[in-house]
Amino acid sequence: MASNKKLLVLPGDGIGPEVMGEVRRVIDWMDKRRHVSFDIGEDLVGGASIDARGIAITEAVVERAKSVDAVLFGSVGGPKWDTLGFANRPELAILTLRKELGLFANLRPATVLEPLVDASTLKPEVVRGLDLMIVRESTGGIYFGEPRGVETLPDGSKRGFNTETYSTMEIERVARVGFDLARKRQNRLCSVEKANVMESGLLWRQVVTALHQREYPDVELSHMYADNCAMQLVRNPRQFDVIVTTNLFGDLLSDLASMLTGSLGMLPSATLGLADESGRRRALYEPIHGSAPDIAGKGIANPLAQMLSFAMLLRYSFDMEDDAAMIEGACTRVLASGLRTADIMAPGCARVSTHVMGEAVVRELDKVSA
Ligand code: NAD
Repeated sequence: MASNKKLLVLPGDGIGPEVMGEVRRVIDWMDKRRHVSFDIGEDLVGGASIDARGIAITEAVVERAKSVDAVLFGSVGGPKWDTLGFANRPELAILTLRKELGLFANLRPATVLEPLVDASTLKPEVVRGLDLMIVRESTGGIYFGEPRGVETLPDGSKRGFNTETYSTMEIERVARVGFDLARKRQNRLCSVEKANVMESGLLWRQVVTALHQREYPDVELSHMYADNCAMQLVRNPRQFDVIVTTNLFGDLLSDLASMLTGSLGMLPSATLGLADESGRRRALYEPIHGSAPDIAGKGIANPLAQMLSFAMLLRYSFDMEDDAAMIEGACTRVLASGLRTADIMAPGCARVSTHVMGEAVVRELDKVSA
């Protein structure tokens, strides 16, 4: 039996617990069939935690998150808690975890699975086989820079301002994540900023270039302005392997890229922190989608984004590439067999529930290990 891997599972609200339930079946399957034992803790976050404990995430849960190898997060929020002030909203759970665990690199893959090639709004010939990864810096830049605020001018009108700031250290650590990922993929990294009009963008370009020469000369590096990158992502997205960019540009470009794939219920993500001396990184994995209150409790949510988030966890926290690929392959084959949850329903396919989709993935896993 492989040594225990410590996970903290935080299902959250709405469809979070429903889709996480299906992932737990895959984890049980791995325990029994692959002899990989996970030491799993589960806890409350978001609205569920507000209801039970009065706060979106307790210090004890943050401490548990710090003590494990990886956190698998569901989603938080819903209309029940919408009237609470900003000081105690369910969403504070995820913001607190990102801050407390020092998670600075957000990884958003945009992969078009062949059975869903028609779900994209772009032509199949443009997106077929798409497999790109956007690394977004997620704790710095204009969303956090000082000074910020709204001031009243002498004539009584107002002026709002925010500041884009990046230090050498912040740029280097996220660029390293990009370079390391590129090495494990097609070995190409595109660094995106606006060095033509922003000093912080110019520094970004200089620091990435110097790091490339110093530590990653084997990786093919290119630079692109963010506006051009947005255009290129729609024109010819397959030209990219890994993109690394700032918080603001990453926010926009990763949402754009995710829609190349056409379906929110299919998209996983990871957020990574610094590696410690043993090489272990703090890490949190979650689907892109929220708690989907409009369909919560109906048993119709798509569990695949949460499953694929678990596959990312295996790949990036435990280096279990074969197992990650096995789960991804099982999801693709289930889709190829024509099963669909309502969000990705297509003519000629069979509409199934969350649970049936989960069962079908486990059946596919059974086939490969038979
Ligand atoms: P959402 O992602 O929850 O839902 C958007 C639409 O996509 C809805 O119609 C929903 O039914 C559908 N959808 C989403 N995931 C799906 C799935 N797995 N299967 C099938 N359909 C799916 O976004 P929203 O409606 O803007 O937000 C709802 C709540 O979720 C809000 O409280 C918001 O703050 C919260 N939220 C949380 C996170 C997070 O926990 N990280 C992220 C985004 C939104």
